[in-house]
This record gives sequence, C-alpha cells and structure tokens, in this order.
Amino acid sequence: MSSNKHTVVIIGYGGMGKFHGQLISENEHLEVAGTFDLLEARREASTQAGFKAYKSYEEVLADPAVEVVLIATPNDVHKAIAIRALEAGKNVICEKPVAMSSAELKEMIAAADEASRVLMVHQNRRWDEDFRVIKKMYEMETIGALFQIESRVHGANGIPGDWRHVKEQGGGMLLDWGVHLLDQLLFMIDSKVTSVSSTLSYILGNEVDDGFEAVLQFENGIKAIIEVGTTNFIALPRWYVKGTEGSAVIEDWSLTGRIVTRNSESEHREPAPIRAGVGLTKTMAPPRKGSTITKALPPAAELPDRFYNNFVAVIEGTAEPIVKNAEVLRVQNLIEAIFVAAASNEVIKDFDTYGA
Ligand code: NAD
Repeated sequence: MSSNKHTVVIIGYGGMGKFHGQLISENEHLEVAGTFDLLEARREASTQAGFKAYKSYEEVLADPAVEVVLIATPNDVHKAIAIRALEAGKNVICEKPVAMSSAELKEMIAAADEASRVLMVHQNRRWDEDFRVIKKMYEMETIGALFQIESRVHGANGIPGDWRHVKEQGGGMLLDWGVHLLDQLLFMIDSKVTSVSSTLSYILGNEVDDGFEAVLQFENGIKAIIEVGTTNFIALPRWYVKGTEGSAVIEDWSLTGRIVTRNSESEHREPAPIRAGVGLTKTMAPPRKGSTITKALPPAAELPDRFYNNFVAVIEGTAEPIVKNAEVLRVQNLIEAIFVAAASNEVIKDFDTYGA
C-alpha cells in the first residue's frame, strides 16, 4: 500500500460520523481531512475534535486534496451526496443502508462506473465476531450441516433519535438493523433465496416499523428467521442455530454461548419419561447423561482484510472489495421483498438476484 495517507472528508458529523472520525484517526492508511455537517453545532464539535469543518459541500468537492468522501448522513440524502462526489472524481464510502431503494443504488453504481471511482458500502457487521463464529460453524459443519439459522437483535429502547422515525428519511428498523442482519446472512449462505414472508411491527405507533420478523427459505434447504425488535424487555439470544448433529446458541456480542452435539461414541438410549406440566413426556425429556456433549464455540472465521484497509487496497487497485456492490444490491432487493411480503401478507418468490 502507498505510504501516503489517503484523505477522507466525513459528511454528516453525528453519531456515526464521529465514530468514523475516531476509527480513521487510528488507521495507518487513511486520515481525516475534515468534516461537513449542515448543523453549526456539529461543525463546532468537529473543530473541537481537531477536524477542519468545511463550510459547504461545494467546498469539499472543490478541494483537490480530498480523495475520499465518507457519507454518514440520514439515509434519504446518501444517493445525491454520493453521486455528486463521484462526479467530482472522489471515491466514496457510504453508510448503510446505502440507499432508499434498489433503483437509487443502481444510479449510484452507474455513477461510480461512469467516473471510474470506487463506491463501497460500510457493511461493517460482516466483521462482527459473533457473526464470524456462526460463519465458521456454517463452513466447517461444526454441528453438522446447518438447516435453521435464527438471527435476532432485541432492544427495549424504541426507535432512537429523530430521522429514524421518519419514513421519507429512510427511518424504521428494517432499513436500520435489518440491513445488517440480512447482509450477514446473504454474505454467508451461498444459495438462492427461494421465498420470503414477513411481518413488520408498529407497536410504538410510528409511521415506520419499530421491528420486523422475516422468514427466508434458501434453495440449499436452510431456513432463516431474522428478527429485530425495539420493544423486547427480555432479549432472546443473538443467534440460535440448528445443524444435523447439534444446536448452538450465542447469547450476546460478548460471545456467551455454547454448542451441544450428539455424542456419537455413546450408544443411543431413549430418555426416561418425565413429568412436564400436568403431563408425562419422553419426547421432551432431557437426553440421557453422556448422550450429548457440550462444547465451547469455535474460533471466528477470518475475513481477508479489515474494512478500511480493504477499501484502501481497492482504490489503489490491489484488491477486490470484500463488500461488493452486487451483494449490496441483492440485500436491497431482499429488503424490498420483505416490505412487499409484509404489506401483501403473501410469500414472495423469484426476486433474488443470486448468481446474476
Ligand atoms: P445522526 O442523526 O446522529 O447524524 C447524522 C448527521 O448528518 C447529523 O449531524 C445531520 O445534521 C447531518 N446531515 C443531515 N443531512 C446532511 C447533509 N445533507 N449534509 C451534511 N450533513 C447532513 O445519524 P447517525 O446515527 O450518525 O446515522 C448516520 C448514518 O450512519 C445512517 O445512514 C445510519 O444508518 C448509519 N449508521 C451506521 C452504523 C453502522 O454500524 N454501520 C451505525 C449507526 C448509524
């Protein structure tokens, strides 16, 4: 990689803009040349953090020293900001969800192609360790072939902030957290989604969804349940997966979890019946002692590089993007299918761009 640092201007210096500012300051290949935010208070915060606060977006685009524009604004303005940057010859990192629709994303990709510049979406949760542990289990068949994957995030704080409540600005939880969980799933599972059904929840009375559940069926036989909730005062585990030889659970982001598999060494003996509730059951009795093995979770799957370093390698022409725009477009299509499935109460088929 080149020894000179590539200069980045962060557009939108709110929660995520500040986070990028910190992370980029720690990166050896990138540096923050400044920020631009519409709000005076955010521009002051930028100056206080030691970053130049540009006075207008035009000033950013006209500055030949700026190589990369990083977009961390609300979702409805991603497209316009990205296309202007690409047309001005800048490379672009854009926050998720990259756009409000697949049609918008196609325009952004076309602008990147036209300008021969890089557009890469910050699907950072591909690097989450809990996800990479599941990815490892999928690849190594640690609990046999996975056939059911349940991926959930449950909070009890409602929808945060301001614009996340507004439909026109791309609010709602499907676009917010849904895009992460769906991106992880499609990144991991190398198979076509053959059907999707879903429900969105509006418990809090907002015009946007405060959560959703989607059930996806893949051609290779995997069923996935994806759920986001913001009204869950008791959270279900982050991951619950079933394989042909066992089950696994990951409770949280600190990787509390375990695997329980069949003990192939032990002779199969039916469990003794137990009293359960007011009845008797053998089917639901705990397996006999020694017939299962409890193990620690495996180490996480590795990705070829970290997000920013991969971005730098891509703009220097030495690597392929780990987050590919065709994959991001596929996720955007899936989100649209989930919205349609929920609105029509129908199972949606034949929308997947897998292999296209
Ligand atoms: P935020 O409201 O905290 O910050 C957004 C900032 O953008 C505000 O300061 C606002 O004044 C500014 N802004 C709005 N329109 C602008 C414009 N046209 N030009 C310049 N500035 C403008 O929002 P946030 O939580 O930081 O989210 C920003 C983006 O980051 C969203 O797309 C969100 O989905 C994404 N995000 C990603 C992650 C992740 O882990 N990848 C986490 C949080 C947020």
